[in-house]
Amino acid sequence: MRSFVPEYDLIAAKHLPEALHILSSGEGWRPIAGGTDLMVLFNAGKLPWRRLASVSETEELRRVVTSSDCVSIGAAITYSEIRQSPILQAEFPLLCQSASWTGSIANQNRGTLGGNIANASPAADSAPVLLAYDAELELRSVGGTRLIPYAEFHLGYKSMQLREDELIVQIHLPRPLCDVRQYGRKVGTRKAQAISKVSLAATAVVENGTIIDVRIAMGSVAPVPLRCQETEAVLRGERLTPTLQARARDTLLREIQPISDIRSTSEYRAMVAANLLGEYLESLS
Ligand SMILES: Cc1cc2nc3c(=O)[nH]c(=O)nc-3n(C[C@H](O)[C@H](O)[C@H](O)COP(=O)(O)OP(=O)(O)OC[C@H]3O[C@@H](n4cnc5c(N)ncnc54)[C@H](O)[C@@H]3O)c2cc1C
Repeated sequence: MRSFVPEYDLIAAKHLPEALHILSSGEGWRPIAGGTDLMVLFNAGKLPWRRLASVSETEELRRVVTSSDCVSIGAAITYSEIRQSPILQAEFPLLCQSASWTGSIANQNRGTLGGNIANASPAADSAPVLLAYDAELELRSVGGTRLIPYAEFHLGYKSMQLREDELIVQIHLPRPLCDVRQYGRKVGTRKAQAISKVSLAATAVVENGTIIDVRIAMGSVAPVPLRCQETEAVLRGERLTPTLQARARDTLLREIQPISDIRSTSEYRAMVAANLLGEYLESLS
């Protein structure tokens, strides 16, 4: 059943202190940004919250700031803005690529990076990329600021380190990434407008055939977006050989926990995950 619009309240916060004040009021206000996840629930009559505080135009969340050691993306930056950002195109192309994979152009014009993170889907397109980039989240409430490595943010399926009075304010991406090889791939039913069946994002430093450092992350293979640390450990410091690739593949298959659902089966997901890893490792040699 569709929702009845007059039953809902909406406040648009122009500045961050106002947004945080509203969320901490104890009156049941919850954040909404682009609304591309929440309005689906609203339309289906399944949105549990009646009071929405819009942060889509909150100025402090609408900036991309570059410093010598990181690029900080405001949580209300949209996918279209990510795709058009020269600094992100130059240094964090996987993020621009994953933004281009997300839904339709209309979705990309409204949907935000912060919304994707807080929606906490294991299939979220930005999630493996943020893990591969070792992103850090800046969370803010009236009580103060917390910095949390993105790799520690998701605690379980749709469970995360985000209190009801907190906002994701910025996503910090460490730089520079010179000499780092970057790789991303999404497998879905179609090339566009499809949630991933399996996705992979990775960064690596390879010198003379030896993997000096590597970060591998996958989507849709576990209850949370997964940093594949056991697989990374097998590869780190080693030369790429067929034997090593086979060991990495076996480790990955033990590390992931794919499920069967409306989009795919656990067997297919496991096979694709192993194939994506193989394809990625081939690209390094
Ligand atoms: C047709 C369609 C196709 C889609 N395709 C894809 C796809 O291919 N890949 C993909 O990953 N996603 C996809 N999505 C999902 C959605 O577009 C993304 O998850 C998007 O990034 C959500 O951002 P938003 O700003 O619209 O979030 P909203 O719907 O506004 O909010 C989502 C959640 O985040 C919370 N939130 C928002 N901003 C903040 C903040 N700053 N701090 C704390 N909490 C916050 C909200 O309270 C809510 O719980 C699709 C959705 C639709 C409708």
